[in-house]
Amino acid sequence: MGVGALARVAIRLARRMQRLGTEGAFEVLARARGLEAEGRKILHLEIGEPDFPTPDNISEVAIEAIRSGATHYTPAAGLLAAREAVARSVGQRQGREVATDEVVLTPGSKFVVLYALMAVLEPGDEVIVPDPGYPAYASQVSFLGGRPVPVRLREEDGFRLDLEQLAALIGPRTRALVLNSPHNPTGGVLTGPDLETIAALAMEHDLIVITDEIYSHLLYEGRHRSIMSVPGMAERTVLMDGLSKTYAMCGWRLGYAVAPTVLAEQIERLMINTASCAATFTQIAAIEALGTESSALAVERMVAAFRARRALMVEGLNAMPGVRCANPAGAFYVFPNIEATGRDERDLAEELLVEAGVAVLPGTAFGGAGKGFLRLAYTQREEDLKLALERMGNHLASRR
Ligand code: PLP
Repeated sequence: MGVGALARVAIRLARRMQRLGTEGAFEVLARARGLEAEGRKILHLEIGEPDFPTPDNISEVAIEAIRSGATHYTPAAGLLAAREAVARSVGQRQGREVATDEVVLTPGSKFVVLYALMAVLEPGDEVIVPDPGYPAYASQVSFLGGRPVPVRLREEDGFRLDLEQLAALIGPRTRALVLNSPHNPTGGVLTGPDLETIAALAMEHDLIVITDEIYSHLLYEGRHRSIMSVPGMAERTVLMDGLSKTYAMCGWRLGYAVAPTVLAEQIERLMINTASCAATFTQIAAIEALGTESSALAVERMVAAFRARRALMVEGLNAMPGVRCANPAGAFYVFPNIEATGRDERDLAEELLVEAGVAVLPGTAFGGAGKGFLRLAYTQREEDLKLALERMGNHLASRR
């Protein structure tokens, strides 16, 4: 039977598939790869993946683990030693005792938000999500029959949440709130007082808080603080984090949830029914990543490199006519405002890719509030970032 015959069978898809979104970064990456296959040189500022290799000590431990037979299933929630390593690391940062049974390991942190939502959401429930924000949150809420309610991030406040709007959006159907600090796509960071105000609202209205802290080590000023450490919040917070961004381990696929035991048990049940467990040697690598001085030093070196790149990007973008770029406090993204160029962000992103060979994302890939912005990831070598800025500047100058 040929491909044509297969194509004639119309498969009726479930209606819920229409409610599932996509992720601009992966779409633009695929297009950029297509252009590269035609021989073009594309600079990749679209995907949030550190360019550094995974630190050697971590890779060596995983290779040795495979050689010594760590290639079988583990318990669904993860190896006890790996869960202990997460509990110790999160506990130290939050200044509280984290129990091992609050921890579940997952193949990437995206599963944490999905499982947490699956465990608590009824059809029609509302979940407040940041706008602009990581697209998987709203997509997963809709997919599960819930209603994502966007709350604005304000450029003039360093892309912190609009707390007044947040308070006004909470209604009788609000079940949960998703936070992400440091934030993708803006690099914004919530302050201590922000966290306390949000925590008070969550407690008053009995909300679950899902806090995405995947960029918590990528912070350029001050120390990271989790909403989970605000007194009374550990009982209603699901923390999601993982190895991808901190240790340059995106392809290893290891995330984790720290949640009240009742919820952690449900996340474990969902793991039993889906992934079974995170990869065994990856879990062993996590023990090395989270618990050793050499991994911590490698993270320090990467953060220093990102800090230098951030300065390069902010300065370069602000020098372009019509572009205004805030200095992000965390993560590895800049989110320049391009309204004064008079260009639509989607058109500009498209032209930059096709004409200038620079892959970036339109701000609207992250929600309506991204109108008039672009997102650039500075996860490339300085030479490439400089070249990308030069190409972008030349492109804008040619269109004036
Ligand atoms: N959360 C945010 C805000 C992200 O930007 C990303 C990746 O881009 C993730 C979660 C996914 O991370 P992981 O590789 O752990 O699934």
